[in-house]
Amino acid sequence: MRPKAVIFDLWETLIDWDRESAGRMLREVDELVGSGFAARWDSSHRRYIAPIRTALAEALVPEELIEEICTIRLGYHRRALVPRPGAVDTLRRLRELGYLLGLITVCSEDIEVLWPETEFAGLFDAEIFSSRVGVSKPDPRIYLACCEALGVEPHDAVFVGDGANDELEGARRVGMQAILIHRPGERPLWGLEDWDGPRVTSIPGVLDVL
Ligand SMILES: [Mg+2]
Repeated sequence: MRPKAVIFDLWETLIDWDRESAGRMLREVDELVGSGFAARWDSSHRRYIAPIRTALAEALVPEELIEEICTIRLGYHRRALVPRPGAVDTLRRLRELGYLLGLITVCSEDIEVLWPETEFAGLFDAEIFSSRVGVSKPDPRIYLACCEALGVEPHDAVFVGDGANDELEGARRVGMQAILIHRPGERPLWGLEDWDGPRVTSIPGVLDVL
């Protein structure tokens, strides 16, 4: 494996996805909006590929509550955007080694809005947020958009992720290599127990498999 670019997933790869705090945030919003908002939101794909206010309006959130909900959501995402141990050092090391770095994340607009204030700001050569580009993984266009922004061919890039959204096979289908990451001592998520490619249990581990 001698890629020119290393492209990372965000949730459960560079940061934790904490089911409990996500659930708390959704319940808080649900209490404000009522009428089964959480279920409507959960089943809406638009939250990942549209501006957040558009997605909230389409989930029938009353106009006068939208700003308040945006504030709640930003607070939750700000607390979530904490790099996993060793992630920032590893990204810096990869840059020193000459790799181009990319990010492809399926996320709501909140992540893009908060990105400049996170420890990740300035560490990537290309960041592809689904909410910005209007497509999500495993749509080939989201991978190709990242490769194009990095100026590399897909076969010169490796994707690192926990496998949600069929993202690892999606990366392979466009010609990229793929590395599975899962928590140490735990099974991979998303039915990837039999993953036949390289796997790591921490971000620093990526340095050992490139
Ligand atoms: Mg993920």
